[in-house]
Amino acid sequence: MNYTLNHIEIREAVSKLCNKYDGKYWQNCDRNNSYPKEFVQELTDAGYLSSLIPEEYGGLGLSLSVGAAILEEIHKSGCNAAACHAQMYTMGTLLRYGSDEQKKEYLPRIANGSIRLQAFGVTEPSSGSDTTSLKCNATLKDDNYYINGQKIWTSRAEHSDLMLLLARTSPKEKLQKRTDGLSVFIVDLNSVPKDTITIKSIRTMMNHATTEIFFDNMPVPAKNLIGEEGKGFKYILSGMNAERILIAAECIGDAKWFINKASNYSCERKIFERPIGKNQGIQFPIARSYSQMRSAELMLNEATRLFDNGYNPGEEANLAKLLCADAQWSAAEACIQTYGGFGFAEEYDIERKYREARLYQVAPISTNMILSYIAEHVLKMPRSY
Ligand SMILES: Cc1cc2nc3c(=O)[nH]c(=O)nc-3n(C[C@H](O)[C@H](O)[C@H](O)COP(=O)(O)OP(=O)(O)OC[C@H]3O[C@@H](n4cnc5c(N)ncnc54)[C@H](O)[C@@H]3O)c2cc1C
Repeated sequence: MNYTLNHIEIREAVSKLCNKYDGKYWQNCDRNNSYPKEFVQELTDAGYLSSLIPEEYGGLGLSLSVGAAILEEIHKSGCNAAACHAQMYTMGTLLRYGSDEQKKEYLPRIANGSIRLQAFGVTEPSSGSDTTSLKCNATLKDDNYYINGQKIWTSRAEHSDLMLLLARTSPKEKLQKRTDGLSVFIVDLNSVPKDTITIKSIRTMMNHATTEIFFDNMPVPAKNLIGEEGKGFKYILSGMNAERILIAAECIGDAKWFINKASNYSCERKIFERPIGKNQGIQFPIARSYSQMRSAELMLNEATRLFDNGYNPGEEANLAKLLCADAQWSAAEACIQTYGGFGFAEEYDIERKYREARLYQVAPISTNMILSYIAEHVLKMPRSY
């Protein structure tokens, strides 16, 4: 089962770190809706969250393939990287499009863990998947942009020092291209006036530290605009392949965790005086989800290989996200069914991981939007929206 694995040493180190954070730790965070701060701190201290930051800015300067291996191991160990995974990839926009000054100001501190860039404010309640219709706006006056509007599902905003924010700088009606007119800002959440921003936590079916944010004339220094005004959509899109590949790796990690749990339990649990795993009704869903996981993993490896070789693998990154999330969900189903009633008891961790796994059919991009990308951009079918 391990012969295709790469980066064995780093995987073993990550797995060792994760073993300190057992089911009880995660159950406790889940029950109290609390942020796994010790876990995130230890990952930060070990440098894993800065693995993709180039060495010249104090990061480990490793490939996306290593980042994917780290996140997969976290999930394969039963932990959850959702509390901090954005720290790994959100800085990509800053790295690719930020000025030298911006990079020098933020990247070394993100790399050494003294500040966190974990919040990514794109989605809004009224525009949802239709990002180019977002309304939250930024108006330039003297040395500041003033932000007004609302974001939703801005995860980890309460546990982040910085937020990458996408806001409208030109009205949609005045644009020739609907993808223009949006700009990206790096917002220092510690220095904005407190009465101009309200962050409200949203309770969700799993512990995800997600929030909604209201901006009331919040000033952001003009120097915090990333790249050119009006080109923000393109900048955000350019980070999507990396994000999809890394999330797909988490899905594969979860799938492996579910399959491992299910196959072990099916050998131990004796009903009608024999292990339940002897029944093909129990075996086959686990074997099927294993085969789905292995084939999804191949697509993930291909997407990662292309990305690390300098290509822009939109097709493979989207396919990897789709197939890995499906494999994860199929493994989650097989696992909870194998555990029978015990799958619903908190102490076995299955129900928690099951709830956590469901998200990846919807976020960071929903399955339908991936299918429509494949239909339009790969198969050249008409645009559906
Ligand atoms: C826990 C959680 C954390 C999140 N974290 C973040 C974050 O940190 N930052 C951030 O910016 N966003 C975040 N999101 C938002 C996430 O990216 C969106 O929920 C997702 O993109 C879908 O948008 P929506 O919820 O508005 O759904 P909608 O856009 O309202 O869509 C609802 C359903 O309709 C489908 N649909 C819509 N249009 C079409 C179409 N043309 N064709 C076919 N189907 C269609 C969608 O696929 C979906 O299934 C998070 C979401 C959740 C739930």
